[in-house]
Amino acid sequence: MEKSTKIGIIICDRYRDCAGGKCFRSMKNREGAFSIYGKDENIEIVGYTSCGGCPGGNIEYTPEEMIKNGVDVIHLATGMVVGYPPCHRIDHFKRFIKEKYGVDVVVGTHPIPQKYYETHTKLGTWNSNKWQEIIEPTMSTEEVRLAYN
Ligand code: SF4
Repeated sequence: MEKSTKIGIIICDRYRDCAGGKCFRSMKNREGAFSIYGKDENIEIVGYTSCGGCPGGNIEYTPEEMIKNGVDVIHLATGMVVGYPPCHRIDHFKRFIKEKYGVDVVVGTHPIPQKYYETHTKLGTWNSNKWQEIIEPTMSTEEVRLAYN
């Protein structure tokens, strides 16, 4: 039987009205943070929600709902990484979900759009080892980043 991975996505509440276009496109194309999944691997979305707004109160409860649907991996959406400012609670969210629920967490969904990449590079936002590690799954190539502008 074909391997199937069940994933949940939690987005930054600043983008709560987002229809998820970039996330779902990159999931289909296996780009950005979704490149860790094989093209022949089935991906099923079992939950999609926002953090609930600063300081991210929804993070405490939503994994539980996703677990009831069999979630394997929770993705923290790229908006958390590229917003102005990026979410400074990402690392805590990641560690909390793993520690409390035992679910793997990946930071990122779609590739970083080039316009955000350029502005954050000028701002020096990601000039630390910690941030380099955080953005690594969604960095992609310039060509791909431009396709997500
Ligand atoms: S900055 Fe962080 S805590 Fe605030 S709304 Fe966005 S993801 Fe949630």
